[in-house]
Amino acid sequence: MPLRLYDTWSRAVREFTPLDPDHVGLYCCGPTVYDHAHIGNLRTYVFEDVLRRALTLDGYTVRHVVNITDVGHLVSDADEGEDKMEKGSRRTGESAWTIAGRYTAAFINDWRALNLLEPAVWCRATDHIAEQIDFVADLERNGYTYRTADGIYFDTSRQDDYGYLARLDVAGLQAGKRVAAGEKRNVTDFALWKFSPPGVARQMEWESPWGRGFPGWHIECSAMSAKYLGPWFDIHCGGEDHIPVHHSNEIAQTQARHDTRLANFWMHGHFLLLDAGRMSKSSGEFVRLQTLIERGYDPLAYRYLCLGAHYRSSLRFSEAALDAAQSALDRLRRTYVQWPQGGTPDAQSVARFKAEIDQDLNVPRALAVLWDVVRSDLPAATRRASVDCFDAVLGLGLADWQADDSSVIPADIAALADEREKARAAQQWIEADRLRDVLTAAGWLVEDSASGQILRQRDRIR
Ligand code: AMP
Ligand code: ZN
Repeated sequence: MPLRLYDTWSRAVREFTPLDPDHVGLYCCGPTVYDHAHIGNLRTYVFEDVLRRALTLDGYTVRHVVNITDVGHLVSDADEGEDKMEKGSRRTGESAWTIAGRYTAAFINDWRALNLLEPAVWCRATDHIAEQIDFVADLERNGYTYRTADGIYFDTSRQDDYGYLARLDVAGLQAGKRVAAGEKRNVTDFALWKFSPPGVARQMEWESPWGRGFPGWHIECSAMSAKYLGPWFDIHCGGEDHIPVHHSNEIAQTQARHDTRLANFWMHGHFLLLDAGRMSKSSGEFVRLQTLIERGYDPLAYRYLCLGAHYRSSLRFSEAALDAAQSALDRLRRTYVQWPQGGTPDAQSVARFKAEIDQDLNVPRALAVLWDVVRSDLPAATRRASVDCFDAVLGLGLADWQADDSSVIPADIAALADEREKARAAQQWIEADRLRDVLTAAGWLVEDSASGQILRQRDRIR
């Protein structure tokens, strides 16, 4: 069955056919490195990693490009306020260049901890100033720009279908926000090049044909994706928040220069939510992967948690959900390591798994196929080979996992747990509760789940 993916542009699940039969160009908007990434950002990269792995399973060579935004992303998406990098620099008392380096390194650490595959290209906005200036110069030549006191802007009224990706009601926005538009001609217009304020030396600024300053945020992605993948490539990804502004503007710029909508498929991961609402970097209230690791969780338990929700549905984060993910992953690993190598995958299970992935990356259902195989009576070596096949897409790193003391259940504890399982099966509740107390006293928590009981060492969490 062919891979089918949801395309935000057409608002439909479409069969994926690459523009070049063997190669797939994949561009993913990366982090703005004025602070740490939060686990919400990382959820989007997990979705993109699964997409890349699914394409690879289909036999394509994927050229994966991820940018690092280290200049030009202003505090407000409406091109107002400070550059996030300069703001971050004031917060920490270090230069914008220093914090960019530090948060980029921290981000790449998180990336690797989540077993995300390394992109073919990491590209930094500040390394591509010339490409961005060339892009803006072409837009100017084509008549899409105008100048205000603080920068060069893109005139969105030049395009009848501006904002189509987001199905923006441009006329409605224009009518509602006329006053707030400032010097901009249209409320949806956006900065291509911002001038350094008169008399102020910014930490990050460059000479340009229009004066000293820095590029607007959106131009970096149009310029760098075109450089590394060409102006018409297969798939462009990001979080759902990018649909109305960032990606709409990337498309507008690229249409105005190259007459394409940049990517054949536009795919967006939905947000990770906290009880308080969306997790956002700018509010300062967010959970980092490192925080979870310090509390005793394996970063791949967070990956497992992400796999449990379809990328096009919101995922509410809670420690209870992460505990359940950690238990399931522990259980999977402990079972997996006991299976011998050398088997061949069960063709029927692999076909079922792939059918779920092909259906717009239905990973939660693909995980259910995995658990069916784990619990099946297929020979152990067949189960291992099948699960290896699944893990090429899921990326849980099962084959690389080494049991450490904290995740191995000692034989006496395993025996008590077994007895308790039998007592429960025989509906001897008093005996089952007694055995639970014995296990708890020995430092092992028992949870009853649909797939049987789960044992967890108490001091592993926090
Ligand atoms: P940023 O570093 O803010 O530029 O965002 C990096 C990536 O994370 C982008 O693809 C965003 O769309 C995405 N993102 C931001 N917040 C969340 C969230 N709460 N859940 C999922 N993805 C997010
Ligand atoms: Zn981008």
